[in-house]
Amino acid sequence: MAIIPKVNHPFYTVALIKSRALKRANGINIIAKIVESGFDIVRMRTKPLCPTEIEAFYKEHVGRPYYDSLVESVSGGIIAMILEIRDPTLDPIKAWREAIGATDASKAAEGTFRNLFGGYRFYPNAPLSDNAVHGSGSWTEARFEASLLFGMPNVK
Ligand code: ADP
Ligand code: MG
Repeated sequence: MAIIPKVNHPFYTVALIKSRALKRANGINIIAKIVESGFDIVRMRTKPLCPTEIEAFYKEHVGRPYYDSLVESVSGGIIAMILEIRDPTLDPIKAWREAIGATDASKAAEGTFRNLFGGYRFYPNAPLSDNAVHGSGSWTEARFEASLLFGMPNVK
């Protein structure tokens, strides 16, 4: 049976490599694994985020008890990427979320990015915010994040 490509699904997602993973020099390994996992990095930039950008990026989390820890996790500069997926039948947002694993890196499935690169692997009592990477949770989120980080138009 022929595979009929989905034409109506999101065509990219937004990934970040968070500051602490960069400080651990995991950046290059993460980038290599992204490519090996079937994603194309179509845009990439290193970027220090100012407080206003962080607040916009994580607006749903402002005021939560872990917010300061979350801010710290992206304050030392990040690598931001727009990822497409090579298999046109797959939704890049779902595929990247699956590839990164659960928010709590210590509980993320074996072999996922957070499982392999989360802070818990490298030092005791790593905060939950130190989970190495970010992935957009929805197409609305991806478009917003791409407009914030890359100035891409936020259109459906
Ligand atoms: P995800 O990144 O998996 O989409 P969320 O959107 O819920 O997770 O949270 C955004 C980020 O905030 C997480 O990746 C993590 O860095 C941080 N975070 C979420 N919940 C907590 C928590 N309870 N304690 C510390 N940091 C948290
Ligand atoms: Mg999220």
